[in-house]
Amino acid sequence: MSDQSAKTLFFGGEWRSASDGATREIRSPDDGSLVAVVSEATELDVASAIASARASFDAGEFPSWGWAKRSALVARIADLLERDAEKFALLESGDTGKRLIEARYDIADVVSVFRYYAGLGLTEHERVVQIGDDHIDSRIISEPVGVCALIGPWNYPLLQASWKVAPALIAGCSFILKPSELTPSTAIALVHLFEEAGVPKGVANLILGAGAVVGTPLTSDSRVDLVSFTGGLETGKRIMGVCAQTVKKVALELGGKNPNIIFADADLDAAIDNAVTAVFLHSGQVCSAGTRLLVERSIHDRVVNQIVARAKMIRLGGPDDLEAETGPLISKAHLEKVATYVEKAVAEGATLLTGGKRSTLDGLRDGWYFEPTVLDNCNTKMSCVQDESFGPVLTIEVFDTESEAISLGNDTIYGLAGAVWTKDVAKAKRVAGALRHGTIWINDFGPYKAQAEWGGFKASGIGRELGPSGLHEYLEIKHVWTNTSPARSGWFADSLNSQVEEKG
Ligand code: NAP
Repeated sequence: MSDQSAKTLFFGGEWRSASDGATREIRSPDDGSLVAVVSEATELDVASAIASARASFDAGEFPSWGWAKRSALVARIADLLERDAEKFALLESGDTGKRLIEARYDIADVVSVFRYYAGLGLTEHERVVQIGDDHIDSRIISEPVGVCALIGPWNYPLLQASWKVAPALIAGCSFILKPSELTPSTAIALVHLFEEAGVPKGVANLILGAGAVVGTPLTSDSRVDLVSFTGGLETGKRIMGVCAQTVKKVALELGGKNPNIIFADADLDAAIDNAVTAVFLHSGQVCSAGTRLLVERSIHDRVVNQIVARAKMIRLGGPDDLEAETGPLISKAHLEKVATYVEKAVAEGATLLTGGKRSTLDGLRDGWYFEPTVLDNCNTKMSCVQDESFGPVLTIEVFDTESEAISLGNDTIYGLAGAVWTKDVAKAKRVAGALRHGTIWINDFGPYKAQAEWGGFKASGIGRELGPSGLHEYLEIKHVWTNTSPARSGWFADSLNSQVEEKG
């Protein structure tokens, strides 16, 4: 158990307990063991953290440090993260229950996000508008947006935080980071590392606690300029409503129901193998999981039989199980939600081919393990096709034509990611062009890069993370017009006489 029980909130440049002394136990999803005890913030703590961020932004030096100096700071953070990678991976797998090997991949990705934004800070951030007049300097300047509330989910806690924190630091913003109440450990370690790297006092602030308690005080406060949120659709809608009251900027990364389309002319060996990974990696607790398999009718039986056989072979296990291929769900409540989702799917007419219940194998009884599940005979009228389970549940639909595949692929409220498998390049490009999703993979599933924008069409979100657009979320654009040879405008008369003279 990590010894974080004393003071795990951070604002005003100091580590603090909650104002009422409240704490929360963090328990492993693998076996229920105690992982950490952390402070549980109150509304008063939230107000203090916002005040700290506001003061550092309004009166501190950080916004005027300049791009090169902030880039050096973010590069130093990347170095420190690389140095402490194993410690971060252990903390992440402890909170989430994911296998250590997956947590190591996550931390390597976090390092690359900080490195990418360190590099982006060194590129040009000013633009001169060509006016055609030597006396005019018209300049477009990027400035930090201000104080940001950065709210993240539990599935990739540090990775999702890095997509927000790294560009916020490069831009010169101050922020309050609020990780999920279930997975705070890597956020605490990250803020310790910010201190070591030399992030100025008040710029980085950390609030831990239940979203239902600290969320509204954080997102409704008029001293916060931007809320960047990653999480579920319903929470996102609530936050957007709250932000509207103070006309805050809001960036939302929400859920997905991501179609994975396999045509009969695909490399089926690769397509089937990737279809299994796409949905069962991290037990489906991935926003871009390939939860909807759309398969051309002529290959349905072959594809489905192989996927079911593979799903039955998947070995579940915790962080320390070297044989394990995927881990537990995050909590009892989430496991119950996934089980109910499968029951409803069957009641609506889906055929349960495998899985559908909690795994009670030896060694897994104390954890929140759910069997990899495959549901056949699904259609877009069913809630299992429309709603996110955020668990290891694959739904299968069939199609006969290219246009039917496209219309099925677009027939949910979401638009986060999708994939198309075919050897016909022209067809792949047509389908990719017609799918209304923020990322499309052709003959692949899942890769993302710090350099490439990530985000959703439709109800999957607003704005983009990663890439240059991920930095633009944290910038305000200012146009400064300088006239070096001022002259009268001459638009309105400046005396009665001149008006009479003109009329005469
Ligand atoms: P969630 O329940 O919506 O929670 C996300 C965050 O919001 C948590 O920190 C939560 O705190 C906080 N929160 C809850 N109520 C709030 C409120 N009223 N005001 C402000 N903050 C509040 O989502 P989750 O279950 O953690 O994450 C799973 C969801 O995230 C899935 O839908 C998944 O698709 C989505 N996701 C999307 C992306 C993407 O890139 N698009 C990436 C990862 C995950 P507590 O944990 O303390 O409740």
